[in-house]
Amino acid sequence: MSDANAITCDVAVLGAGPGGYSAAFRAADLGLKTVLIERAPTLGGVCLNVGCIPSKTLLHAASLITEAQAFRAHGIDFGSPRIDLDQLRAHKDGVVGKLTHGLARMAKARKVEVVQGTGTFRDAHSFDIALTKGGTAAVRFEKAIVAAGSEAVSLPFLPKDDPRIVDSTGALALPQVPQRMLVIGGGIIGLEMATVYAALGSRIDIVEMLDGLMAGADRDLVRVWQKHNASRFNRIMLKTKVAGANAKRDAIHIRFEGEGAPEITEAYDLVLVSVGRVPNGRLIGAERAGIAVDARGFVTVDRQMRTNVRTIFAIGDIAGAPMLAHKAVHEGHVAAEAAAGKPSHFDARQIPSVAYTDPEIAWAGRSEDDLKADGATFGKAVFPWAASGRAIAMARDEGFTKLLFDADTHRIIGGGIVGVHAGDLISEIALAIEMGADAVDVGKTIHPHPTLSESIGMAAEVFEGVCTDLPPAKR
Ligand code: NAD
Repeated sequence: MSDANAITCDVAVLGAGPGGYSAAFRAADLGLKTVLIERAPTLGGVCLNVGCIPSKTLLHAASLITEAQAFRAHGIDFGSPRIDLDQLRAHKDGVVGKLTHGLARMAKARKVEVVQGTGTFRDAHSFDIALTKGGTAAVRFEKAIVAAGSEAVSLPFLPKDDPRIVDSTGALALPQVPQRMLVIGGGIIGLEMATVYAALGSRIDIVEMLDGLMAGADRDLVRVWQKHNASRFNRIMLKTKVAGANAKRDAIHIRFEGEGAPEITEAYDLVLVSVGRVPNGRLIGAERAGIAVDARGFVTVDRQMRTNVRTIFAIGDIAGAPMLAHKAVHEGHVAAEAAAGKPSHFDARQIPSVAYTDPEIAWAGRSEDDLKADGATFGKAVFPWAASGRAIAMARDEGFTKLLFDADTHRIIGGGIVGVHAGDLISEIALAIEMGADAVDVGKTIHPHPTLSESIGMAAEVFEGVCTDLPPAKR
């Protein structure tokens, strides 16, 4: 396509995930003529369409099932759930649709032009677009923000094109409720999907090559999850790998090797591969624009999210770990503001992580295991939910809230929560870290009673030795 017909703009954003659309909307709000390039038919990227949002919809359904079952022991029996998979799938799709429609409306209201197609750099000031509907286009820009995300890692030794072997997108499509399901990879995606399918009635095996699940989370948090889930899953095989797979008519037959490997080959109706994601840095023609991409496929950026080409920015999964939507959004705002000439920088003190499992695990700031590995001196206080009236009232008192403090200033530098709603509770710890709050600030903040959030104030009181909701500290 000749340049005369090119769409021209101040800022072109490549990829409309949470990072990309946030960057585009912020740029438009700052008065820049903005084009948003996305190959999928809807905005929102992996997170909204085939990730965070559909998985949370299904996890909510899973929690209804498990909570109802658990309450049999306390006098309410709803009987066994009758699951209409078509209706559940339609509900999930409806949730996603509501949000994608909202985004399309917001793009229009901001006069952000959405180009539906796959963009690759032609040079440092233009993209070639292979339009999704067929044909090509070109977008010429003053500045660009690359938000092209990541894709699931696949395992080369697994049979190709077998619908019984899926990644997270395939698992979220809810093709069936398999009788026997294998989850390869005990990270957040694997454990969230295992939680969903276990509630729907599948017998789940999980295989993880490391010696623990959910790398990155403190082990004391994961231990509580593991104890609570001891009977939910058939088998959790640690320090174990898949050694071979054979797709037969009746099932996928898997051979394992390693410490937890069963002696015989196991048969599965569905296999989820959730062994991590890789950035899409090699798929965007970066070399034609002169953009540096590292060996792993990440685009290298500075604190303004600028690449080595000063007019091109990169944000989100493609710009570095952690691959989390909320990090991408903040980076997107910084990039848009920097593109508009503002002195914005990404200087977050913490990026929270949440596993929306049952119970949830959430952490922010420094983790205890990392601090120990660094040989750092730090303070720590724990409030066990066994002493929380609200957690006991909910019959969910297995969790705890942990705060980590700078040993000298008593400022909060990290924290972790395991328990129901941990993902919602962690924000207070995130704010405390960002604000430089210390134990007294948080302990003396009046928290409503009876709530799970009280446990954060009480953990701070524990650190100060003034908590009256626990037995007296030993002197
Ligand atoms: P992950 O890297 O978090 O976990 C993958 C796990 O698979 C690791 O524990 C790894 O040791 C294991 N593994 C790798 N190869 C293996 C093999 N051959 N056999 C057995 N185990 C193997 O990746 P993920 O869970 O796929 O998630 C991908 C990304 O998406 C992560 O960055 C994650 O943070 C993000 N994500 C976040 C959320 C959330 O915040 N709630 C939800 C989903 C995904």
